[in-house]
Amino acid sequence: MGDRRGTRGDLLKTLTGKDLAAAIRAQTQAEATAGTQPRLAVVVATADEASLWYVRSIAKAAAGVGIACDVVDLGPGADPAQIGETLARLSADPQVHGLMLQTPLPPGASAQELAAAIDPRKDVDGANPLSLGRLAAGLPAFPPATAAAVLALLDHYEVELAGRRAVVVGRSTVVGKPLAHLLLDRHATVTVCHSRTRDLAAVTSQAEVLVAAVGKAGLIGAAHVATGAVVIDVGTNPTDDGGLTGDVDFEAVSAVAGALTPVPGGVGPVTTALLLRHTARAANLP
Ligand code: NAP
Repeated sequence: MGDRRGTRGDLLKTLTGKDLAAAIRAQTQAEATAGTQPRLAVVVATADEASLWYVRSIAKAAAGVGIACDVVDLGPGADPAQIGETLARLSADPQVHGLMLQTPLPPGASAQELAAAIDPRKDVDGANPLSLGRLAAGLPAFPPATAAAVLALLDHYEVELAGRRAVVVGRSTVVGKPLAHLLLDRHATVTVCHSRTRDLAAVTSQAEVLVAAVGKAGLIGAAHVATGAVVIDVGTNPTDDGGLTGDVDFEAVSAVAGALTPVPGGVGPVTTALLLRHTARAANLP
């Protein structure tokens, strides 16, 4: 964690994810090498370079902790039936412990419908609607790794959640909705905002814990943030120079927030580490 002073003089904490991710990977390696070698299969049907880069980074990280990773690349021309059959085959394969479907998918293919073919016990990125339903019902399930990463960061930095006002901007099934359930389970008072929310800043500026998961660079500025709030930036938006930037205007919000995650280097590394932890745990389910 790095500290620096915001313009209001309070100590701003930068909540980096690197050390936490390394700790999760070390623990995962111990679990992965203790018994049967866990195997993760990633089904891909895209030519999107950012998505393919992410899959390569998962495979590399998996190898680093002793998890086998098969990338099943069906190509951008794959049809929904072919993707569904591949997921069903891998779900039934006892050699495969973790299974995920990478997005984006070809036109006409629905990630949510196809993910229903992923065995919930192998659903290490919480994509099967059953996993989200179980999460909502407070039953054991793998949450999407990104939503779990937000919670892991908040816990790592000992951010109190019980009774606090948490606002999540974004209601996707991969981030916003599961995260709202995870925060509710931790007794936060949760508000979820989306594109139809009127006067976003009026809502978000009430948050003691604010999570942005939208996909719009710089959407959250200083006016959206209460003094001293903890702000978690899930957004990953490509920049013109080939880098990444978040949904939060880091410079502006630094002056107001009490703590803020950077992009890159915040939620992202923890997400990948948790995907691997989920895979190691899936391999050891009774
Ligand atoms: P998504 O499916 O496109 O959902 C975006 C959400 O933002 C929607 O709920 C949308 O509202 C809402 N939204 C759009 N414009 C808004 C506005 N002006 N004000 C308030 N809400 C607005 O995106 P996603 O898959 O959840 O991903 C969100 C971001 O997280 C993206 O940048 C993505 O790249 C990033 N991400 C990062 C990681 C990681 O590991 N760091 C992992 C996954 C995703 P409606 O529902 O009304 O359309």
